[in-house]
Amino acid sequence: MENCVFCKIIKGEIPSNIVYQDDDFVVFPDLSPKAKLHYLAVPRKHFALLSEAEREEEALLGRILAKIPTLSKELGLENGYRIVVNQKGEKGNDAGQEVMHLHIHILAGEKLSM
Ligand code: AMP
Repeated sequence: MENCVFCKIIKGEIPSNIVYQDDDFVVFPDLSPKAKLHYLAVPRKHFALLSEAEREEEALLGRILAKIPTLSKELGLENGYRIVVNQKGEKGNDAGQEVMHLHIHILAGEKLSM
């Protein structure tokens, strides 16, 4: 997607400190961390919403979710972590999704409050 900040990071057009990548997704630190450790796991394929996911995207998201625990040591998630996916709705944006390229927040590194 032309004007998508995460597509630009994936293509290397915007610098980011990518800490993990494979054919499915990339992981880099959030620019504005909400916890001591805050990463974004971003599928290479551009789509914005879970509601857009068809079989291919469902399988992709399953692979990403299954991969995250295997990165525990290298990402420093050994004391546990929280994953969050903000989603804009049809009528509003209560979750505050800012970037319309689906991404999984990974929060860790300290005790997290609700
Ligand atoms: P969301 O509100 O779920 O759409 O989250 C978007 C996240 O992307 C926010 O936490 C931003 O801090 C983060 N973000 C935006 N631009 C960048 C960037 N260039 N590099 C890293 N994180 C970014």
